[in-house]
Amino acid sequence: MSETDSKRMEELCGIVRRCFAQTLMMDESEIGDSADFFEDLGGDSLDSLDCAVRLEEECGLSLPEEPFSKCRCVLDAARLIYEVEQGTLAAPAEEKKEIRPITRFEDTPEYAAFHARLDPMEATHTNPYFFCNDSPLRDTSVHDGKEILNFSSYNYAGMSGRPETIKAAQEAAAHYGCSASASRLLGGEKPIHKALEEAIAKWKHAEDAVVLVGGHSTNVTIVGNFCGKNDLILYDALAHNSVHEGTRLSDAESRPFPHNNYEALETILRNARDQYEKVLIVVEGVYSMDGDIAPIPEFVRIKKQYGCFLMVDEAHSSCVLGKTGGGVDEYFGLEPDDIDIKMGTLSKGLGTCGGYLAGSHALVEYLRYNLPGFVFSVGISPPLAAATLEAIRLLQERPEIMENLHRNIRCFLSEAHKRHFNTCLAGETAVLPILVGADENAHKLSMALLERGVFVPSAEYPAVPRGKARLRFCVISEHTPEQIVTALDALADAAAELGIRLPE
Ligand code: PMP
Repeated sequence: MSETDSKRMEELCGIVRRCFAQTLMMDESEIGDSADFFEDLGGDSLDSLDCAVRLEEECGLSLPEEPFSKCRCVLDAARLIYEVEQGTLAAPAEEKKEIRPITRFEDTPEYAAFHARLDPMEATHTNPYFFCNDSPLRDTSVHDGKEILNFSSYNYAGMSGRPETIKAAQEAAAHYGCSASASRLLGGEKPIHKALEEAIAKWKHAEDAVVLVGGHSTNVTIVGNFCGKNDLILYDALAHNSVHEGTRLSDAESRPFPHNNYEALETILRNARDQYEKVLIVVEGVYSMDGDIAPIPEFVRIKKQYGCFLMVDEAHSSCVLGKTGGGVDEYFGLEPDDIDIKMGTLSKGLGTCGGYLAGSHALVEYLRYNLPGFVFSVGISPPLAAATLEAIRLLQERPEIMENLHRNIRCFLSEAHKRHFNTCLAGETAVLPILVGADENAHKLSMALLERGVFVPSAEYPAVPRGKARLRFCVISEHTPEQIVTALDALADAAAELGIRLPE
C-alpha cells in the first residue's frame, strides 16, 4: 500500500469509528479497530443498518449490502469503503457447499431449529401460541368457557361481531354463496365487488381501488411485481414480513433504511437515485410493535423531490388515525395523490379479511389485468365483501365509533402514565405497548393477567429488540374506560405479586 493509500485507510478507520460511536452511543475511544460490532460492542442488525447509512452519507457513496453485512469491525468496514472508492471490490467468491440429499422433512435443519424453539415451551406448558377464543374478539371474548377482557385484537373499530356487518355477510352469503368461485377476471365478478372497490376508493380519496383475498398476499404481490430489474425498492427496516417477502420475489434491487429515518432514506437516494428507473419507497402508517406513527409528510416530500413512488401500508393506521378513521391522509391532511399506492388490510379495522390497493385509475386498471395475486386468485368471498362495505358505511355514518376509540386511546395512555408504566413510542394509535424488559417477565405477566381474567399477549425477541419485551395492548372502540382501568390495575397487581419492577 502506498503512503497515500495508508493515509486514506487511516482516515477511513476514523470515519467508521465515529459512525460506530454515534450509532452505539459510545465514546470513540472505547472502539478498537478490531472490536466485533455485534459480540464486543453490543450492536444489532438495526444498528448495523444505521451505520451503513451514516457511512454512505459521510463518504458520499453507496455501500453494497452483502459485503457490508459481512463486516464485523472498524477495519473490515474501512477496507470495504476503500475498495469501493478504488473500484477494486472483487465479485463475491462462490462458496462450495457439500450437498446432502434430504428425503424426510423431519431431517431438515429448519425442522430441527423449529423444535429447538418449540420443545422447551411445550415441556414447561408455556406455549403462548394458538390461544383459542370461542367468540368474536371484541372488548371481551370467551376462552375456556369463561368471559375474559380481551386486549389482543386488531378489531379496532369493533366491526367484527357487530350485528350490522354480520347481517350484511349473511344476506350476501344467501344471495351469492360463500365463494366468488373463480378469479374475478374470468367469471368470479359480482356486483358487490365493484361496490366495495368504489367505496374504498372514495374513502381513501383515490381514483380507484382493487381488493384481494389477503392482506399479506396483497403486499407480497404488489411489492413483488411493481418493480423490475432496473428498479430499486427502499423499505423501512421495521416493515412487515409481507413487504420483505415481496422484495425477495421482486427482480428489483432492494434495501432497508433505518426505521422512520427519512434523512437516511434521502442519503441513499442522493447517492443512488440516478442508477435506477423506478424507485419504490415502502413504509407503514403505524408500526405494530411500538404503535408509532410514521412521518408520512417527509416521505411524501422526498418521493416528490427524487421522483419515486410511495407505498404506505395502512394495516394499523386506517380505521384508527384521523377523526373518521380515514388513516394517514386524513391525519396529516395529505393531497389525494401524495401517496401512489395506498395499501390496507380488511382484517383489522374493517373486521373481515383481505387487502386493498388504492391509487390512480391508470395504476389500478393495470393491476386488475396484470397483478398475479389478483389475476390468478379467486375474488374476495361475497360475505366478506358485503361485511367490509357495511363497515365502511358504518365508519362514515357513526362518528361515535372513532370517538370511542380515540377516547380509549387517551384513557389508556393517561391511566398507564399515572401508574408510571413506560408506553414505548405509543402515540395516538390503538397499539399501546407497556415495556417490561426481559422476555421471561413479559411472558410471566401475560400469564398472570390471564389468571386475573385479562388477555394481553407479550411481544418478545426477535419481534422486538432484545431486552425490550413488552405487553402489547390493543384497545378497540368497544372497550370502556372502566375495563381499561381494570386491566392496568391487574397489571400493577400482577407485577407486584411476581416481584417484577416495570421500567418507568
Ligand atoms: N401489513 C401489516 C403492517 C400487518 O401488520 C399485517 C398483519 N399483521 C399485514 C400487512 C397482513 O395483513 P393480513 O393479516 O390481513 O393478511
